[in-house]
Amino acid sequence: MSVQEPATIDYSIYRTPSGSYYCAPCNKSFTSENSFGQHVESKKHKNQVNTKTQSNQTTTVGKKDKKKTNKL
Ligand SMILES: [Zn+2]
Repeated sequence: MSVQEPATIDYSIYRTPSGSYYCAPCNKSFTSENSFGQHVESKKHKNQVNTKTQSNQTTTVGKKDKKKTNKL
């Protein structure tokens, strides 16, 4: 049986060759996994990720919104 591990994110994919951690959506780099983990959990980072993903769908969502406002 394996030991139950806490739900941790694998930060190694964010690791740069220089040994620091880089957050692409926020364009920020961190020297330790600890501070990077804190950043990823922060609202600021989640906001940044949200805006990045939303801007990808703006075209389809925007059209739906227009119809709604027309009714009103
Ligand atoms: Zn970030």
